[in-house]
Amino acid sequence: MYQETESPASKPETAREKTAPTPEEKERKEILARYRALLRAVQPAIKSTEDRKRIKKAFETALAAHKDVRRKSGEPYIFHPIAVAEICAKELNLGVTSVVCALLHDTVEDSDLTLDEIESMFGREVRQIIDGLTKIEGFVDTSESIQAENFRKILLTLSNDIRVILIKLADRLHNMRTLEYMKREKQLKIANETLFLYAPLAHRLGLYRMKTEMEDLALKYTEPDIYHDIVSRLKKSEEVRNRFINSFIQPIKKKLTEQGFKFEIKGRTKSIYSIYNKIKNKGVPFEEIYDIFAIRIIIDSEPQNEKADCWRVYSIVTDFYQPKPDRLRDWISFPKSNGYESLHITVMSPTGKWVEVQIRTRRMDEIAERGYAAHWKYKESSIETNIDEWLRKVRAVLEQGDQNAVDFVESFKLDLVTEEIFVFTPKGELKALPTGSTALDFAYEIHSDIGDHCLGAKVNGRLVPLSYVLQSGDQVEIITSSKQKPKEDWLKIVKTSKARHKIKQALREEKRRLAEEGREQFERKLRHLGFTFSEKDVPKIIRFFQVPNIQDFYVRVATDVITNNDIRRFYKEELSRSWYDYFRKKLRRSPSEGKKETTPSAPTLQELLKKTHRSEDSLIIGDNVTNLDYKLASCCNPIPGDEVFGFVTVNEGIKIHKTNCPNANTLLSNFAYRVVKARWTSSEDIAFQAGITIRGFDDVGIVNRITRIISNQLKVNMKSINFESNEGLFEGRIMLFVHDTQHLEDLMEKLRHVPGVIAVERMG
Ligand code: MN
Repeated sequence: MYQETESPASKPETAREKTAPTPEEKERKEILARYRALLRAVQPAIKSTEDRKRIKKAFETALAAHKDVRRKSGEPYIFHPIAVAEICAKELNLGVTSVVCALLHDTVEDSDLTLDEIESMFGREVRQIIDGLTKIEGFVDTSESIQAENFRKILLTLSNDIRVILIKLADRLHNMRTLEYMKREKQLKIANETLFLYAPLAHRLGLYRMKTEMEDLALKYTEPDIYHDIVSRLKKSEEVRNRFINSFIQPIKKKLTEQGFKFEIKGRTKSIYSIYNKIKNKGVPFEEIYDIFAIRIIIDSEPQNEKADCWRVYSIVTDFYQPKPDRLRDWISFPKSNGYESLHITVMSPTGKWVEVQIRTRRMDEIAERGYAAHWKYKESSIETNIDEWLRKVRAVLEQGDQNAVDFVESFKLDLVTEEIFVFTPKGELKALPTGSTALDFAYEIHSDIGDHCLGAKVNGRLVPLSYVLQSGDQVEIITSSKQKPKEDWLKIVKTSKARHKIKQALREEKRRLAEEGREQFERKLRHLGFTFSEKDVPKIIRFFQVPNIQDFYVRVATDVITNNDIRRFYKEELSRSWYDYFRKKLRRSPSEGKKETTPSAPTLQELLKKTHRSEDSLIIGDNVTNLDYKLASCCNPIPGDEVFGFVTVNEGIKIHKTNCPNANTLLSNFAYRVVKARWTSSEDIAFQAGITIRGFDDVGIVNRITRIISNQLKVNMKSINFESNEGLFEGRIMLFVHDTQHLEDLMEKLRHVPGVIAVERMG
């Protein structure tokens, strides 16, 4: 469609029919108009006429290469490279070389133009960037593994020249903006790729605005109904929201002006995509999302005053509104590794609504919105070093050749989409970890040796289990033990690929070692019984013990899961009679072997309960009275050795309490006349009931170890045992029978030395 307006350029000889411009002419005009708009956008970066000439040459080259080609929308193809170049200049602050490359980005792929020709026209640098762009073009069109392989290439290219990725992102953004002309399945494919790869990549590079636009556009095509619903709800609530924001910022504005700040205040709503995510993941209805918008205060500040100025603004805001202490985020002292700097607080509005306020300088705002690219305007910022740090990590992962490409993308994707937290070592050194990282991740981040021997951690001075999820700002001290080893279930605790890799490695190592040890033990045992190990028994062993392979059998021998008795049983039940007879003969000849099996059994519970009935001479009540009837108070369960007193009750005779019983104070002060002296005499062979609590780090087998020490090693009988475990910590309550306090103390001391035990206390 074009308008039938009179053109001043119309030729006089066509007098009868004043022709409108032909569609071709109109199109040419439009192309030139768009090209001029691009030139205006790139103007600040143009330093010489040479620059201008290069851009012109690139434009003409692209125009020729894409001649007669149209996009799905019917528009001339050249609109696309011009638009991509404009995004590069306008939204990413990129310079002349990037604009040249953006104009040329599809030429080698889509026309006869070769890289050699590009190099001869534009030089080596442009060739390399175009080469990178051409290689990654269309990589997502292929199968999963090739896709991943190509993704690895992108990153390798990226490490040479970040502009390849930035231009690629601009390309993708323009394709997303013009997605409506594509077929439905193509729309879905491109939108999903964008969510999967490009938006996280933009985020990782700190290109917040680009990431947000990509996600919103992707949602528009993947979930059109939800997208339009959110858009209309935002629209409907806009007026109320604006009124609220205006009254909220009123006093702040006034004060900032009084204090001489030059500033801008914006009320920014959350992106449609992040609202969608909140509704989906948290299950909250639109109306209940309290942080649907944030107030952003952007101040003009000199580089040397930035931090102080931001905190001055913080102070002004919190003079008016009460801050929520746990929602303070100081990204100024600790910028995110993508360069993000800002001060975030959440404050209570007079209407009782929490409002997030973001405070930052103009420079910080530009970096937050435009990321790495904006950095070129502010050379003094530290983004460059952080980007280098990130690239260094990416390269380290790439160089770990043992990972296949799909794994690589999986772990990389994880690192991309999760935000980071910052935590401190005891010496105040800062460590960046992905959100959700645990104390164990932190241990491995410091050193794999620390990780391998990690028992637990102290976070901000408090003991926590390995699985504790760290928060930004935590100070973490790792507790190690030389006896500790990596465990299978640690893999469920860790979040970082580094820790997972190290644990797997250590587990493999440990299994190999145990299998070796178990094999030696097994052969030694057999030799002792007069057998030699035969390879042909292996299948029978595997079947009998229901193990996946002989290695696992050896591991179980080494860890005492398979005992001597089990091995005997195997020979008894599985092997031929002659073997068995031979075996039995052997047994008769070695009585010591047989004896071990008949260790006298420990007293039964029944017997023990009988024993707990006090003996007549165990307690002296009053000065020298032993034959009074008494009961031990159940509130404190006194045992011989405890300092005690007797209390005369109305219905139950004399009750014996510990002097430090929780009830003692009340009894002694209010009913002094009913208190009688009491003390213990010797208490050999009498069992008394006492309770202990044990706290420690939960791991497989700890309950077993503890109870084994109590009953086998110390020969103490337990009445009841109750273990509860929560988030990697356990608490056990054990009622047991002891002779006296010394006996109990000894036992508690032994238990304190069990690896993984943090505290052992007496109950009551
Ligand atoms: Mn393109």
